Amino acid sequence: MEYPCDSARAQEIARLVLPIMTRLGIPMTPINYALWYEYCLERTPELVQALAPVASGEVAYDYQQAHALFKRYVAGEDPGTVQRVETEVRRLLADIVQIIRDAGLELSRYSAVLGSCGRRLESCEDLRDLRRLVQSIVEDTQAVAASNSQLAGALKERASEIDQLRGELERVRQEAVKDPLTGLANRRAFDERLAESLDASLRQMKTICLMLIDIDHFKTINDRHGHQIGDKILQFVASVLRKNFAGEDVVARYGGDEFAVIVDKAPPGGVAYVAETVRRQVEASQLKRTDTGEPVGRVTVSIGYDYLHNADTTADALDRADKALYRAKQGGRNQVKSFSD
Ligand code: GH3
Ligand code: MG
Repeated sequence: MEYPCDSARAQEIARLVLPIMTRLGIPMTPINYALWYEYCLERTPELVQALAPVASGEVAYDYQQAHALFKRYVAGEDPGTVQRVETEVRRLLADIVQIIRDAGLELSRYSAVLGSCGRRLESCEDLRDLRRLVQSIVEDTQAVAASNSQLAGALKERASEIDQLRGELERVRQEAVKDPLTGLANRRAFDERLAESLDASLRQMKTICLMLIDIDHFKTINDRHGHQIGDKILQFVASVLRKNFAGEDVVARYGGDEFAVIVDKAPPGGVAYVAETVRRQVEASQLKRTDTGEPVGRVTVSIGYDYLHNADTTADALDRADKALYRAKQGGRNQVKSFSD
């Protein structure tokens, strides 16, 4: 969803959102606020319809449902594409059932599977659900096609159509989780992965670290060289991060000139080393403008990090890493600080 940066309009909407949320006793979290902001904008009829009974007090606010609505109508999964793919999948399911009927064959298991796919389609909440469902239809269809030569041709064709839809869903999903400028994960994807990491660190007692990286005096760089050069610097810092983290690590552009990394299975001491390597590689960059050849000047980053704790919420973990980053900035920038330093 696009949100034009018009502060008068944003204030006007806030004046509508806040009384509703207060009256309903809904916690002012970013997701809740964004959802009700979108509701008050009244530009998505389906969302207004879904939340109207809650707004009128007829139905209690269900946080799980709210999260699903947020993902679907606010967070950028393209509902047009999702709906079109749903319609296509429905048509193909009907098509396949017809092919089986025409062939006059008794394929009861397969029919039952397709029937249950139809029901699951009704309850799909987001792209991930839909992708899983489409994947299972493709696999079942291919298996039946392989075991029955009479049907093979017709079913193979349908399977490849569904496969194409799956590809399209994957493309939309990728776009929804990526920062377009750097190709890194975006903030939304990062927040989801951080929540998963907290679960994983509880279950598997893994040592996971959260690192925040912020470019120093980026505003001055933008002012001096323009936004386009600023964008190139963001891409450069992204490339340094990509080079230094791998495997299960999650590297994201967290917003503006701030990057975040979930360092998986971080060995004690190893995180400080890799953070220092990133800092040094950025400092040593000596970037030049491609148009004039003029040096961009010294680009540096400040880095703060801390390990995830068992009882952490995502906000706790981010807060400690942010405090460490703040200390790195206060200490003169171009340095690495851990929360416990
Ligand atoms: P500090 O050392 O304290 O971090 O100083 P700073 O100048 O980096 O401070 P701040 O974080 O306030 O500035 C971030 C700047 O990043 C402000 C904004 O104009 C710029 N910015 C945010 N997103 C983009 C972007 O996509 N491209 C470019 N070129 N600039 C961006
Ligand atoms: Mg900065």
